[in-house]
Amino acid sequence: MEDKVYDVVIVGGGPAGLTAALYCCRDNMSTLLFEPMLMGGMVNEATLIENYPGFPNGINGYELAATLLEHAKKFGLKEEIAAVTSIKKDGDIFEISSTAGNCKSRAVIVAAGSNKVKLGIPGEKELAGKGVSYCATCDGPFFRDCSVAVIGGGNTALAEADHLTKFASKVYLIHRRNEFRATSIVTERVAANEKIEKVTPYKAVSIEGKDQVERLILENASDGSKKELTVDAVFVAVGISPNTDFLKDLIPLEEDGTIRTDTNMATSVPGLFAAGDIRYGSIRQVISAAGDGATSAIAVKNYLS
Ligand SMILES: Cc1cc2nc3c(=O)[nH]c(=O)nc-3n(C[C@H](O)[C@H](O)[C@H](O)COP(=O)(O)OP(=O)(O)OC[C@H]3O[C@@H](n4cnc5c(N)ncnc54)[C@H](O)[C@@H]3O)c2cc1C
Repeated sequence: MEDKVYDVVIVGGGPAGLTAALYCCRDNMSTLLFEPMLMGGMVNEATLIENYPGFPNGINGYELAATLLEHAKKFGLKEEIAAVTSIKKDGDIFEISSTAGNCKSRAVIVAAGSNKVKLGIPGEKELAGKGVSYCATCDGPFFRDCSVAVIGGGNTALAEADHLTKFASKVYLIHRRNEFRATSIVTERVAANEKIEKVTPYKAVSIEGKDQVERLILENASDGSKKELTVDAVFVAVGISPNTDFLKDLIPLEEDGTIRTDTNMATSVPGLFAAGDIRYGSIRQVISAAGDGATSAIAVKNYLS
């Protein structure tokens, strides 16, 4: 790592970070991007992305990740294969600590993404991408005229169940309590939707199937009795976990751990920007992450000048 003050440090090499890097490098800002894992972020896990513009036949997530990286590299991206562990601000300068050492910058774009909370039950990992999904917007259209289950009791779960009825013939909504934690408007919409059947108070105990999801096994939270649902897909919507631990001493976080920004992706700390799934209110899609990345890079340019 060079001993100099970079114009901007980008934390995370997913679609948000790589798009920000492309814009920053192309605009001649001295830029360093930290990524401890596979460049491209979460898209690497997507078998087929059908809703990113420019690819009418869809694109495999791994291929899209490679293309995003190649594009940023074309304009001189410098990467550091390391995780950022903390960020401090001293005057106008940010001091970034990472698993590979420390560096300084005048601005920071945080694009570290967020993870979907997993159920941790048998079959979930094995059948991920084979009917187990964490994103109804991404994968709903693959299950036209099918029976699917949504697991969760909050706004996201109910909104996803409602959205899935545009494709699926039947949607089971599974929640371990009898009461849902959603706003009344979403709850009413779900109650009025004849394709949705609430299954409560049940918790999922395993997902079964040979090469694809075939069954969901449930356990009654009150009496422990078991129940089996024949489904083609299981959508897990039990929460998100933003990768913001390393920011706790720098900026106040939202209740769900995300970072609030203005429309320029600026946070309440001058010079600190956030982009992509880590941002409060993000729709958590590749296109929104890329858009946030571009916006944040232009905002950094304006901030530095
Ligand atoms: C299976 C699956 C299918 C999907 N399908 C679609 C789809 O069809 N269409 C669609 O639009 N979206 C889809 N998505 C969602 C999409 O992948 C995300 O919305 C998008 O990747 C978010 O981009 P991001 O850059 O904000 O975050 P991420 O892609 O999560 O990237 C964040 C990066 O930051 C890195 N990072 C984390 N902490 C640190 C740290 N401390 N220091 C440095 N780096 C760090 C992570 O390793 C990661 O690489 C899918 C997601 C999954 C999992």
